[in-house]
Formats: sequence, C-alpha cells, structure tokens
Amino acid sequence: MDPEFLKKNHQKTLERIQRACQAADRDGQAVALLAVSKTRNAQAVAALAALGHRAFGENYVSEGVDKITALADHSLIWHFIGPIQSNKTRQLAEHFDWVQSVDRLKLVSRLNDQRPPSKPPLNVLIQVNLDGEDQKAGCAPDQLPALANAIEAAPQLRLRGVMSIPAVRESANDQRAVFAKLKALYDELQAHHPSIDTLSAGMSNDLEAAIAEGANLVRVGTALFGPRQNR
Ligand SMILES: *Cc1c(COP(=O)(O)O)cnc(C)c1O
Repeated sequence: MDPEFLKKNHQKTLERIQRACQAADRDGQAVALLAVSKTRNAQAVAALAALGHRAFGENYVSEGVDKITALADHSLIWHFIGPIQSNKTRQLAEHFDWVQSVDRLKLVSRLNDQRPPSKPPLNVLIQVNLDGEDQKAGCAPDQLPALANAIEAAPQLRLRGVMSIPAVRESANDQRAVFAKLKALYDELQAHHPSIDTLSAGMSNDLEAAIAEGANLVRVGTALFGPRQNR
C-alpha cells in the first residue's frame, strides 16, 4: 500500500471527523477513529501504524489473529467487529482487546470463561440490529438490558457500550434518523450502566450522520485504505 496514499486518506478522514464535530458543536477530541483493516495485509496496517494510528478493526477471526500475531511488536489495539460463530470465541478472547459484536447470552459466558486471567478484562460492545432483519447480526433492542446485565456480571468482561451497522440509507436525513434511534438506546442503557462510554456507529459513507447523532467511535475502512477486493 502506497504510504502517501494512506497518509492523505488518513488526514482527510481525520478532517472529516473534525468538521462533523464542529457542525454538531462537539469537541473534536470526542470522536475516535477505528481503522477497519479487514482484507488488508499486515503491511498496510503497519503503514498506518507508522503514521501514529493505533486502533484497528477486523471482521474475520483467523485473518485477524494472523495480523495480531504478525504485528505484536507494534502495540496496537484490536477490535473484533464481525459476526461471531460460537466456536470462535476462544480465539477472540485470547487475542483481541475489544469485541464489538456481542449479540447473545451464549457469547457472554463463553468469552468470560475463555478470557485468559493474565489479560485485562475484554472490552465488550453489544451489537444492536436496528432494522429488524432476521438474518442480520445484532440483538433486538429489547434484549439489550439482559445482555448488559450479563456482561456487567462477568468479571473477565467490561461493558463499554453499543455498536450498530444500519442498512444503507441514501439520504443524510434517513441516516441520521436511524443513528438517533441508536443514541436513544445508548442513553437508556447508560442510565442503568453509568460507566459505559462507547457508541460505535458510522462508516466511510455515513460517519457525518453518526457523529451528528452522538457516535464517539467511527469505523472506517474504504476511506482509509481504498476499495476492497471481493473476498
Ligand atoms: C467493513 C466494515 C466497516 C467499514 O466499512 P467501510 O464502508 O469500508 O468504511 C465498518 N464496520 C463494520 C462492522 C464493517 O464490517
């Protein structure tokens, strides 16, 4: 990956975040960038790390673990953001710092049991499905309280907030409407779990709308690394 291309994209993405914060009257420091490195090789990750970026998101377990292992010397922070098969939780618990896609109770107990005691608690976001499509990952909004309570009760897990991947909407208004729904769920959860601090929403195409509605972690792939090849 051309370092100049990456540097320009990184700068542009940070500027988009800054402008969106200004437009929403929010502190420019309030929103963090997660670089989504799925399908990119370890060299591309290392090139972005060389620019001072630290937090990366992966969707596929073995691909992610390979990069974590290859880049162990870079002290990076790794988030898992993909759909979770129950038989893959051990690798997540052993290698990742965050798991953003927890959406059912079974995953909570497995991740808690499998998180090595030598490591700090695993940071966990609950993935919410806002579109009500059965085949999509994410819990229904009414399952949030039970999941949150289970995570709080798990000593090897740390509940940090919620994540969502809404279906694509073309207009900024429609994008904002669904992110506003997510923010309302987040606020309600925070009323019962005051220590949560992370609302993960917004990608390359809709990060402005997400920031306008309160997201504080945006997950960006294409705008940083360029278009993905089909996997
Ligand atoms: C791929 C992916 C992203 C990044 O999407 P872009 O449109 O490339 O920015 C963000 N979040 C999740 C969960 C993803 O799977």
